[in-house]
Amino acid sequence: MAKQPSDDLYDRYMGAFEASAQHFKGCDACQEGRNCPEGASLHERFARLQDAFRARQSKRRR
Ligand SMILES: [Zn+2]
Repeated sequence: MAKQPSDDLYDRYMGAFEASAQHFKGCDACQEGRNCPEGASLHERFARLQDAFRARQSKRRR
């Protein structure tokens, strides 16, 4: 499955994943399960883009 060069949603989805993962690595509060506001908003953004991306994938698959 090749990635489209101009796939903006995919790029934002991956960007949000990276941002969320990077934050988690450097944030004691998130690693201890204490949701910090920044981590929560990064995770929410990632979850929204993941939903959008998966919804689009399942539409394309049929
Ligand atoms: Zn955090």
